[in-house]
Amino acid sequence: MQVRWNFKLLPNQSQEATLEEWLVTLRKHRNYALKERNQGFDFNNRDKDTSIVYAYGSHCELESKIEYGSCCPLTCPVIKHGVIPSNFGLATKQTKVKDKKTKEVIAVKTNWDSASGIQMKVTTQLRKSLDNFTKVNADVLQSNIAKLDQAFTNFFENGKGYPQFIKRLDSFEYKPDCVKLQDIKKNYAKAYLPGIGNIKFHNSRNLQILQGLRTCTIKREGGNWYISMLVDLTGSLPDIKPLEQCKSVVGIDVGINKLVALSNGSFIENKRPTTNTRTARRLSMRQRAISRKQKNSKNKIKAIKRLAKQNHKLAQYRNGYSWLAANIIVKTADVVAREDLRIKNMIKRAKPKHDGRGGYKRNGASRKTRLNRVIADAGWGDIFNKIAWLALKTGKPVVEVPAKYSSLECPKCGDVEKKNREGEKFLCRECQYTEHADTKASRTIVRRVGLVFPSNKRTLPADCGKVTLSRYQSLQVEAKNHALEAVNRNINCPTVGYLRDMAETLKESSSL
Ligand SMILES: [Zn+2]
Repeated sequence: MQVRWNFKLLPNQSQEATLEEWLVTLRKHRNYALKERNQGFDFNNRDKDTSIVYAYGSHCELESKIEYGSCCPLTCPVIKHGVIPSNFGLATKQTKVKDKKTKEVIAVKTNWDSASGIQMKVTTQLRKSLDNFTKVNADVLQSNIAKLDQAFTNFFENGKGYPQFIKRLDSFEYKPDCVKLQDIKKNYAKAYLPGIGNIKFHNSRNLQILQGLRTCTIKREGGNWYISMLVDLTGSLPDIKPLEQCKSVVGIDVGINKLVALSNGSFIENKRPTTNTRTARRLSMRQRAISRKQKNSKNKIKAIKRLAKQNHKLAQYRNGYSWLAANIIVKTADVVAREDLRIKNMIKRAKPKHDGRGGYKRNGASRKTRLNRVIADAGWGDIFNKIAWLALKTGKPVVEVPAKYSSLECPKCGDVEKKNREGEKFLCRECQYTEHADTKASRTIVRRVGLVFPSNKRTLPADCGKVTLSRYQSLQVEAKNHALEAVNRNINCPTVGYLRDMAETLKESSSL
């Protein structure tokens, strides 16, 4: 299990200057590498009369079945059935072919190297001649090229945009096992960054359990420096408790009026960090101040920094509040049940409506945009991630249930009817069950998990005021009914497999 741990770095003045200098060098290095690739492509396609059209690619091996010259790294000047000239040393890669049985080297093959391979070698040469490059750690420069390669992969394979020249770089990366931790004390520790030195940071975690660090990213955010370590926690986390040993379950329904409604009837308020009236006004004021300033002026830069600081502050506030909410939720019960939301789809912009005459009808786009902003501000996905992590740390399972009709279904009788709900009120027309609509939704989620074993029929989970929990052992009969019901109704629920197993074991035990 790999997770990221973030700490705030406390560099001294000279270290901060070095970090900033590195970022400038790395930005130029990346732009240089990108320009080289673009030029290679243009150079090879300058002859419009030839039948060969070069395409961007990451490799062009002579052994592969790709038609020679149709794919090129920088792109390299490979000619159809061409022979690698001897002075193309940097553009080639030698691979050793080993015998499968004896594992001895039989032959050495020469292939065209990948684009990143060539550029990494060029970077090594640059380090010998250019002072700026000598100062920067070699591994950091190499991972800078690797990041550019990833940007190209994202363009070709993942549907992202074409890599652009960047005006500002805010982070760089160390390869695994480069950064070492030293002087680990209770409140602070030091990170040894090769090429920069020991930088102190506030320690808020148990760093003693770490075997070694994976990749480490150094970031600049809102005028502060942070280190983000990828750490391997396999073995130091408890096992996840099996569902049948859990004695309580809490369902959560995320929303906008109330950030989270818990199935025990309590709520977590939505503070709306960036969309409440006060901060929204302040942000728009800061934004307006920027647009009023003269282009490329020092005052404009100052104004931009002021806005960035404000945004950073708000992001930190939201982060802290999300931790608070996640902590409250995970501490409530043994199992956390939540909806399986597609948040990305929920904040898509409104589709345009054509009126059939070449124009557009009203589609409520501005209202939808405002709603999207509020949804994004609530940070539901962030809360879900934090719940997952806290649950993992304490060995508690998290169950996702389908979200469809969770706000309309009655948790008591299962009736789905739009008229049951009116604003914040919920009144079931079948069984006259009344409740706050959000609390009800969270109880519906609990019902969908199919894990609640109430102590008697009068206090169904939907009715009980405080907590929806009860003992598992005294309720085997109820459990059986509930499990069978869930299996028979064929709920599309991740726990159905578990329920089916449990139903079978219960059948066996009752027949004995
Ligand atoms: Zn009902």
